[in-house]
Amino acid sequence: MTVFLLPMMALAACGFLLSAALHWSALTGLAPTWLPLLGEDFRSTLVMGIFVVWFPAAFLAQRMHPTGRGTFSWRALLAGCPPWMRYAAGGLFVYAFVNFFLSVQRVDDGPLSGLRPITGHAMLFYGVAFCIFYSAWQRPRMLEQLQCPQGHRLRHNDRFCPECGASAPPPTPGQE
Ligand SMILES: [Zn+2]
Repeated sequence: MTVFLLPMMALAACGFLLSAALHWSALTGLAPTWLPLLGEDFRSTLVMGIFVVWFPAAFLAQRMHPTGRGTFSWRALLAGCPPWMRYAAGGLFVYAFVNFFLSVQRVDDGPLSGLRPITGHAMLFYGVAFCIFYSAWQRPRMLEQLQCPQGHRLRHNDRFCPECGASAPPPTPGQE
């Protein structure tokens, strides 16, 4: 499964950089010279790309950090990312919402119309998808399905099965 991670990371990174560049254009009001190269429907392409990276990202996230019970934790899901990446993802989250509320009121025309709210969210989705792929790439063990001796599903930080109380299998030596 890890063989898909590098191309997905590359796609998410391209989506993020393109969103960031277009977001900067929307903030400054200066359309980049390469904008026509993206074609008429580049907004749709940008949004379609989000779905392309988010289906595998959501699938991996469910495997890495099952949410069937207990609380969801971004920190646990992104455990393979360095702290600065987790903070950056949190920053993108806050920024996307602030940006959205600041920009929906404004009506602007021209080649950059509507680009500010779209790209603000696109940066968030591509950025977080990248972090999920990166976390899985750094810690491939998170993609394994862990079970207690009774066959109950375990999370990676469980030391005991929450359903039957059996001890979780010890971690593979050499990995944490
Ligand atoms: Zn159990």
